[in-house]
Amino acid sequence: MSALRFRGPVLPDGEVRDLYVVDGNVTYERVASAEPVAEGWIVPGLVDAHCHVGLDENGAVPEDVQEQQALTDRDAGALLLRDCGSAADTSWIHKREDLPRLIRAGRHIARPRRYIRNYAHEIEPEDLPAYVAREAQRGDGWVKLVGDWIEREAGDLAPSWTRESLDAAMRVAHEHGARVTAHVFGEQALPDLIGSGIDCIEHGTGLSTDLIDEMVANGVALVPTARQLGNFPGYAEAGRERFPAYADHMLALHATRREVIGAAYEAGVAIYAGTDAGGVLPHGLIGEEVLELASYGLTTEDALGAASWRARSWLGLDDNLAEGTTADFVVFDRDPLEDLTVLGSPARIVLRGNVVG
Ligand SMILES: [Zn+2]
Repeated sequence: MSALRFRGPVLPDGEVRDLYVVDGNVTYERVASAEPVAEGWIVPGLVDAHCHVGLDENGAVPEDVQEQQALTDRDAGALLLRDCGSAADTSWIHKREDLPRLIRAGRHIARPRRYIRNYAHEIEPEDLPAYVAREAQRGDGWVKLVGDWIEREAGDLAPSWTRESLDAAMRVAHEHGARVTAHVFGEQALPDLIGSGIDCIEHGTGLSTDLIDEMVANGVALVPTARQLGNFPGYAEAGRERFPAYADHMLALHATRREVIGAAYEAGVAIYAGTDAGGVLPHGLIGEEVLELASYGLTTEDALGAASWRARSWLGLDDNLAEGTTADFVVFDRDPLEDLTVLGSPARIVLRGNVVG
């Protein structure tokens, strides 16, 4: 039996321990023959709770590119990915021990011509429950809706779905044991999404105090994708000529983003770290997203927890380096809770008990 030994403070509690890896699992029982591998701060595997494997700005990408995207995330320490919608079938990644754990949301569901071309199933509201059922079965326990997007006649963001279709969609998803999340930039789509029982909101720049309180009461999570929010001025200017109202709206949402996400955090909404890699942004930026979340007012512990132990529990990996659990962790030379910039340079990466970086 070959065993590996790591030593250092194990986060989140920071107790200094000898952590052994035997048969892919964590044990704290001494193994005298264990090979010492590294000393440092040991953090449960990082989580990118909003990324897209299998996409680029034009739509689905082939498997070799999907593999490279997953490897780039892994090498940044992101060992669990919640894929927030992909036009490609990436289920083959589940079979690869050397690639991150992947939780897929199937393919985005949007209204016709109301999302990035080649990304989504583009359907009408009456078909929403059937498509939600299909993606719930195709994915790994999540379904992704596009909650709002530019509506050409209005020249601005507008809700994609009727309340009736959302009520039915949430019911169907939950019957299939899947959770639902939605892309939402603006204000208008949020009351019906949250009111119909959605499980998570992506971006959430249009949240108000009332809706934040409703999210807390109903346990609705928020993945702000803080780095992506920084791109809003670029999206505004790209659309300004055809959609001036949209452009102004995006700039206004950008201007209040720190206040809005900060208010959700202060109120107790569960916030998780997602980079939104795969469409516009590159993969491998989980460390930068944690830094960005900290700049929104999250404590270092909450910002890191949003990309590690808290996110793992939320996504159903209730392990976090307890005795006998799977050995997915990252070792850092410095304490990330003292200096989050160290997240950009993992010293060692261990996935399913194998040293992969
Ligand atoms: Zn996204």
